[in-house]
Amino acid sequence: AMFDSLSSSIQKAQRLIGKSGTLTKENMKDPLKEVRRALLEADVSLPVVRRFIKKVEERALGTKVLDGVTPDTQFIKTVLDGVTPDTQFIKTVLDGVTPDTQFIKTVSNELIDLMGGGVGAKDLEPGFPQIILMAGLQGVGKTTAAGKLALYLKKSKKSCLLVATDVYRPAAIDQLVKLGAAIDVPVFEMGTQVDPVEIAKKGVEEGRRLGVDAVIIDTAGRLQVDEDMMGELRSMKAALRPSDTLLVVDAMTGQEAANLVKAFNDQVDISGAILTKMDGDSRGGAALSVREVSGKPIKFVGVGEKMEALEPFYPERMASRILGMGDVLTLYERAESAIKEEDAKRTVERMMEEKFDFNDFMAQWKTMNNMGGLQMLKMMPGFNKISEKQLYEAEKTFEMYEAVIKAMEEEERSDPELLVKSMARRRRVAQASGRSEADVAKLMGAYTAMKSQMGGMSKLLKLQKAGADPS
Ligand code: GDP
Repeated sequence: AMFDSLSSSIQKAQRLIGKSGTLTKENMKDPLKEVRRALLEADVSLPVVRRFIKKVEERALGTKVLDGVTPDTQFIKTVLDGVTPDTQFIKTVLDGVTPDTQFIKTVSNELIDLMGGGVGAKDLEPGFPQIILMAGLQGVGKTTAAGKLALYLKKSKKSCLLVATDVYRPAAIDQLVKLGAAIDVPVFEMGTQVDPVEIAKKGVEEGRRLGVDAVIIDTAGRLQVDEDMMGELRSMKAALRPSDTLLVVDAMTGQEAANLVKAFNDQVDISGAILTKMDGDSRGGAALSVREVSGKPIKFVGVGEKMEALEPFYPERMASRILGMGDVLTLYERAESAIKEEDAKRTVERMMEEKFDFNDFMAQWKTMNNMGGLQMLKMMPGFNKISEKQLYEAEKTFEMYEAVIKAMEEEERSDPELLVKSMARRRRVAQASGRSEADVAKLMGAYTAMKSQMGGMSKLLKLQKAGADPS
């Protein structure tokens, strides 16, 4: 898939750095060469690559990074340990910062920067109604993207009207009408005998009459950039004053896509790009270069032919995907909304007291479920390749844990030692839960492992509280 070879080259660069010593100009030389080669191979242009490498080198020599560890990441790590042994990244974070992680962190920051991180809104511009003009060459996926965007807005509770203005290709109008019907969004069209700018104006009027939140205008595509197309877009922009003018480009075309965004922006001033076909097997140069080459952000990416296959573009997430770090940011975001502050505080307090019982176990399991259950493991570093079967098995195991814990008496839940000590109790719990004694033994094993890891965690927390350097 996209970025696979870039990911493995950067990971190789990371390994070349090693875990001991410090970052120096000398030991970064070969790893940087590797990154440079990988970027060029991903079809990023030479000047962009040069600037990138220079920045990584400068920043890496001047940074000191320390990632914090929270009880929740510790819990996740513990769960991960039970599922598969590959927890390299998290372990590295937990173990403190080594030159290789420092290097990769710098590469990550620069990738985010390159793709336009932290540069204001990457979502659509506001407007009442929002008027979104879609431009692009033929075959890049423009009409599909118009439909996807309508569905995306609809899902965020915004009503839409699609407007078909490609009077040169009746098939394009039919296609939009069909897409609209499929996603239940109205489509405005006036056939092929009316001037496109006139259709667009009437479309916006219709949108106001219907009271929709957004009007999405699909303009005519051409085989290549020509003066007619640019002229038509300029007239549309002048007549409609759209809140967004989005250029749809095909990710498979690499550097060329970035150049196209620049060319359009120079001539008609667009607000951003939609990069389609990111699901395809291409090298990723487009995603990496659009911002740097054109000065405009990528706002959305198309990741498949289905109408649902559109995602807002987040440079941070893309960077962590490229680096094979999983979708950590999405995960943290979910964690933030799933974990209530008082719960988190309680967890930390319990941990400081080195207490961990089955009530805590269940509470943390509930938090995991609020975050999307074990499916979220797919977003974890090193877990991109976890199979559905493994997930299924892990979920079954946790269901079993839950059943067994529910069958315990309250005093056993809050004092697991009672069960550790008494075979009779364990047998009774097995019977009451309808599970086997081996199942109960498995839960006891998981509990003991977690408790000891939580113990280690508490020592770390105490050190941090005391102001000591935990590494
Ligand atoms: P237009 O000429 O620019 O309007 O292009 P279309 O919207 O008709 O799309 C051209 C082809 O690309 C169609 O077969 C779409 O299904 C396909 N397509 C569009 N977006 C994507 C995408 O994100 N991923 C994949 N795999 N195919 C896409």
